[in-house]
Amino acid sequence: MAAEYVKFVDVTKCDGCRACMVACKNWNDLPAEPQDFLGSAQSHAKTTADTWNVLQYIEHEDSKGNLDYLFRHSACFHCTDAACEKVCPENAISYTDFGTVVIDHEKCVGCGYCVNNCPFEVISLKEYVDKNGDKYRKANKCTMCTDRLEEGLQPACVTTCHTGAMEFGGKAAMIKKAEDRVKQIKDRYPNAMVYNPQGVGGTHTVYVLAEKPSVYGLPENPKVPTSAVIWKDYAQPIGKMMIGATTMAVVGAFITNTIISKKKNGKNEDGGEHHE
Ligand code: SF4
Ligand code: SF4
Ligand code: SF4
Repeated sequence: MAAEYVKFVDVTKCDGCRACMVACKNWNDLPAEPQDFLGSAQSHAKTTADTWNVLQYIEHEDSKGNLDYLFRHSACFHCTDAACEKVCPENAISYTDFGTVVIDHEKCVGCGYCVNNCPFEVISLKEYVDKNGDKYRKANKCTMCTDRLEEGLQPACVTTCHTGAMEFGGKAAMIKKAEDRVKQIKDRYPNAMVYNPQGVGGTHTVYVLAEKPSVYGLPENPKVPTSAVIWKDYAQPIGKMMIGATTMAVVGAFITNTIISKKKNGKNEDGGEHHE
């Protein structure tokens, strides 16, 4: 069994060069997505099916009234208890021994349940056209470069980072490093913290944030939505036994649509706030 790994992102060492975005595009052969000017140096509002990490640029006034310019490399968190994995009716999303969360495109039917349930909004659908001209969709997100890990390499973005803002290594060592780093920077950043939310079982992309999560548009206490837990751990196994997998997919659609309409009505569940 492979060791469990963590990508440690120390946002206080990032200089915003965006090389991680370029490395990700190159390694994963993702097309460029030219965007209209958004009013800041940030290139894309959030991750998309063809842009798996986005460098956030945040103008922030700190507690002393000084203007701070914050950066954050944002991508899939590779949750230990991943909502996307829980809600997928086709079991197209799974965990690897490295602790990463990956999508099997052969199994994905493009239903979008994973997209609607991710507490961090970092998974998206992409439209494809087959040889008959028919359109179909598949979910896409950061893979933590699992194909590179299998070859004994590190993620492309980590390898490219020229300031050492990203490191990759064994889970316990990386979390310890993050905790030590927070102690070092508390004078400069009193609100600094390790972001490794336990509501999703901890994550395999662990951050040292300079400010509170909300400053970065992150949920303070993200959780796997209760409906996702009920669906995966209770309804799906019992339902499959009793009424068969196809009917269960229809039931899944009903549950997910109910969640979506709740969100639209402003009754967001405990999956985390929406954010840029
Ligand atoms: S961050 Fe979202 S897409 Fe990534 S593993 Fe967690 S739930 Fe799935
Ligand atoms: S780990 Fe790989 S797939 Fe994920 S953001 Fe970095 S380069 Fe992209
Ligand atoms: S390569 Fe490193 S320094 Fe450059 S944007 Fe990415 S994380 Fe920041």
